[in-house]
Amino acid sequence: LMPTELRIVSDDPVDRDGPYLVAPEDLGQLLPDEPEFRVDQLREWLYRKPVTDPEGMVNLPQALRERLSDGLWPFEVEQVQEADGGRTRKWLFRLPDGPAIEAVLMGYKTRTTLCISSQAGCALGCTFCATGQFGFERNLLAGEIVAQVQWAEASLRNQPMPNSPDHVTNIVYMGMGEPLANYRQVRESLRRLIEVKGMGARRITVSTVGVVPGMRKLADEPWQVGLAVSLHAAEDELRSSLIPLNDRHPLAEVEAAAQYFFDTTGRRVSIEWTLMDAVNDTDEQADLLAPIARRLDAHVNLIPMNPTPLTEDRPSSDDQVESFKDRLLALGANATVRTIRGQAIDGACGQLRAAPDGRPGLTSKR
Ligand code: SAH
Ligand code: SF4
Repeated sequence: LMPTELRIVSDDPVDRDGPYLVAPEDLGQLLPDEPEFRVDQLREWLYRKPVTDPEGMVNLPQALRERLSDGLWPFEVEQVQEADGGRTRKWLFRLPDGPAIEAVLMGYKTRTTLCISSQAGCALGCTFCATGQFGFERNLLAGEIVAQVQWAEASLRNQPMPNSPDHVTNIVYMGMGEPLANYRQVRESLRRLIEVKGMGARRITVSTVGVVPGMRKLADEPWQVGLAVSLHAAEDELRSSLIPLNDRHPLAEVEAAAQYFFDTTGRRVSIEWTLMDAVNDTDEQADLLAPIARRLDAHVNLIPMNPTPLTEDRPSSDDQVESFKDRLLALGANATVRTIRGQAIDGACGQLRAAPDGRPGLTSKR
């Protein structure tokens, strides 16, 4: 935590402060005795060229670097794992009040995509998702969301990935949690990433399981961020059996909100579809999904289900994945199969928070 002289009182649910936990505009309040240009220099380091260690903030005086060294990051990095020949990197961040969150960076030739968490745990309890299976701990603060990006970027500068850009080019809110159930903090994190860090809104995608009021609010924001809608089933009975939230916001409502998003922002939504053997990989589901995708002009991302400890559902076979995709294509919908990254380190979609022994396992400090 910050030394006392670097703390200010905040109205946030978690009562602590640090450079990433205050709005960038309020950084000066943490450093009342520093001239404005110093605050600007610090803001530049935090948001434009993050470094893991404040020693790297070379234009700041030594004394200030030392004051920062205790509490620069709002979490501790408890574990780093790599897979896929060094092009997938997963961090486990420990928050000072106990919960752990994760972020996964995937390197490609022309981009790097960072998958970040918006909540510690998730309250929505989707049957196939490891995060949902272990329940909800708390919402993340905007600064805790942004700091995941900045840590990944700083780490990437220290240790680049083979044949991949040296900074975070794309961000997806597809890690732990339901971003639109933590709207206020997620919105503020988007603002800082877009308006302060300078990320292109179009390079950011928020994924939702169908929090309809949040989808509509996001549509009305001034940025062209992407929206991914996790559909997974194309009729209500099946969808409700997988996604409890569907009882509150059934398919028709989710589709209408997705349509509103497209109409308002001009950005097509994408549809996420986690393929589970004999559950939602049938011809019937493809026949119901295709018209929805066509109406929304949406791209369907097919994700072969990644195994998680607490569900009996199994991934669809490769053949079934292909034939489901082909059926969608034949019905005039756009669809591709998402390649799996990070499965060996439980870093793939829906696996975050799944320890190898099947228990949460990440609460060692409690
Ligand atoms: N709460 C949001 C964002 C986090 S989940 C949402 O649900 O959209 C990110 C994506 O991973 C979602 O599309 C989700 O459905 C998918 N997912 C969850 N569990 C999965 C699993 N076991 N295998 C593959 N994808 C999974
Ligand atoms: Fe929460 Fe998304 Fe997992 Fe459902 S799939 S439990 S909404 S993180």
